[in-house]
Amino acid sequence: MLPDLYACSSCDQRFSFTFREAYYYMGATRLGKQVADADLLWINVRPAWCKDCDCLCLVEDIAPLKIFETAYGLARTGRPVEYPGIAEHMDPPEALREVGDQLRWRMARRHPARALCCGGSRYQWMNVAQPLLKHTECDFGFIEARIHIGSYIGCGPGIRAPANIPLYDTEGELLGQLTWRNRDEGIWDIEPLQYPQAADD
Ligand SMILES: [Zn+2]
Ligand SMILES: [Zn+2]
Repeated sequence: MLPDLYACSSCDQRFSFTFREAYYYMGATRLGKQVADADLLWINVRPAWCKDCDCLCLVEDIAPLKIFETAYGLARTGRPVEYPGIAEHMDPPEALREVGDQLRWRMARRHPARALCCGGSRYQWMNVAQPLLKHTECDFGFIEARIHIGSYIGCGPGIRAPANIPLYDTEGELLGQLTWRNRDEGIWDIEPLQYPQAADD
């Protein structure tokens, strides 16, 4: 689970995520103006600090293939899977299909994990105890996680306001963002986007 935000232990400057979830586009055709739920695959992410953008960001969390194969074995026998992440409410057939999609994605994936802000690879994980990330502007400050306990009850993202959830191709290249959702049809509107500039690869 992602912390709500990070803050400097000395000056209390706060750092928040510009987005907290992201998806791969798995459709067989070129991405159009809309995408169906069935063509989206959840991206496993970890919080990190991007040294190129100098910001808090999400980085793809790509475990070795063996872990995906083990997860698929568990899902086939109806047992719970912790990684790759799938929705908790899924029944066993749904979970098996989801983990199967994750496994197929992992087998085809070539590019190493990218920071999802710019597509780069100069990042430092935030969800490890050491090393702590020093706040560059402060003599004594370190950037640490803050978690607020609260509950969110609503009608889901993309209904009353655009969700702006980023969407990537299967190699982690930014394609656009999910904006408005038609809940009845399970379809999202897409706004095309690209990484700020060509990444350093
Ligand atoms: Zn500070
Ligand atoms: Zn970046």
